Amino acid sequence: MRAVDIIRRKRDGAPLIAEEIRWLVTHFVSGAVPDYQMAAFLMAVVWRGMSAAETTALTLAMRDSGAVLELRQHIDPIADKHSTGGVGDKVTLAVAPLVAACGLPMAKMSGRGLAHTGGTIDKLEAIPGFRTELTQTEFLDILDHHGLVLAGQSADLAPADGKIYALRDVTATVESIPLIASSIMSKKLAIGCSHLLLDVKVGSGAFMKTLDEARALAQLMVTIGRTVGICTVAILSAMDQPLGAMVGNALELAEAIAMLRGDAPADVTELCLHETAKLLTMAGIASDEADGRRRALAAITSGRALAKLMEIVMAQGGDPRVIEDPRLLPTAVVQAPVAAPRDGYIAAIDAERMGLAAMHLGAGRAKKGDPIDHATGLHLLCKVGDMIRHGDPLVEVHARSPEEAANIIPYLLEAYRWSDEPVQPGPLVYEVAE
Ligand code: URA
Repeated sequence: MRAVDIIRRKRDGAPLIAEEIRWLVTHFVSGAVPDYQMAAFLMAVVWRGMSAAETTALTLAMRDSGAVLELRQHIDPIADKHSTGGVGDKVTLAVAPLVAACGLPMAKMSGRGLAHTGGTIDKLEAIPGFRTELTQTEFLDILDHHGLVLAGQSADLAPADGKIYALRDVTATVESIPLIASSIMSKKLAIGCSHLLLDVKVGSGAFMKTLDEARALAQLMVTIGRTVGICTVAILSAMDQPLGAMVGNALELAEAIAMLRGDAPADVTELCLHETAKLLTMAGIASDEADGRRRALAAITSGRALAKLMEIVMAQGGDPRVIEDPRLLPTAVVQAPVAAPRDGYIAAIDAERMGLAAMHLGAGRAKKGDPIDHATGLHLLCKVGDMIRHGDPLVEVHARSPEEAANIIPYLLEAYRWSDEPVQPGPLVYEVAE
């Protein structure tokens, strides 16, 4: 086989066979296919797309480029969840201990935040001492002992994805549904849980800006998961405004802890209960989603869910006192309230802009490898649909200095759209693909 023939066939819209795709991925990882040929292939995929069969073949080839854990061969059922990323999305931090406290083991390998989106690993690292870099033996031991493990993405898992993603990033080929689906699913398949819940975010703060795009991505990922025998469900959830009240690493962790105490904002609570109930039902632990919700609520009110988080924090070297008292988490020196510039109903809060504002405050990174500040971020005091008076506190800026707080305020206020008429917030979960 020759790379040039595979590129030409994709360029001309001819279907590729699995062997061609596997050959290309294998030879790209070994260095035999150079970056410029892979880049040309990726651009051809952006223009021509890929069928579900081609995308599955690409996913499997990427999965097989590194270690394949196949956790379900050790523990069954075992859950995994993945969010396509957003602003204020701390759901994994609450759902993982919640699901585990309800008797469904969960193994989660997560990423770091980039640009306007946050990452679970950065949020966990707000806990002093918490180790997210685990060896494979540690990962499996912790999972065996605690029914839960929360780790960073291991470098030997789907290394083809790391190499291809780096190329996509600099060749304007990130925005492709088959490339996104294969990138996400190659890592999920390498972990190899038995039950996978995908949260595909839709809206200004998400990768997928429209419901149609999100639906196509969700369907494709569900098809790939089911093809290899993983029970896979995707929910499509709103990311037009930040989720919950907190944006920023320690702030979001504190909100996830509040969730496990039964004291989180309504949207965070609803999404966490929805996802937990879904996973428990998929795995046969709950008889239906109503039963799943009852079990999740019982784990919260009994304190079992919070105890499970504390247990895993200790197991991974973190200081459990911050879970008991989140005021011990890193705190920004400046906490500056921003006043509403007018009377009115909040019609929209641009999630992407809020995420970028938090990034400028130090909570996120503009490029891979940048350091972050776990303490900074935003506390939204009002959400879409709220009525507010001119001068009332709208949002609180958690910053490293008064200058940084003052500089971000005009940028932040641009995120808000106002209405003189009452505004009905949109749905939180649009639909479920299964
Ligand atoms: N997340 C991934 O892991 N890969 C993509 O391509 C996009 C989002």
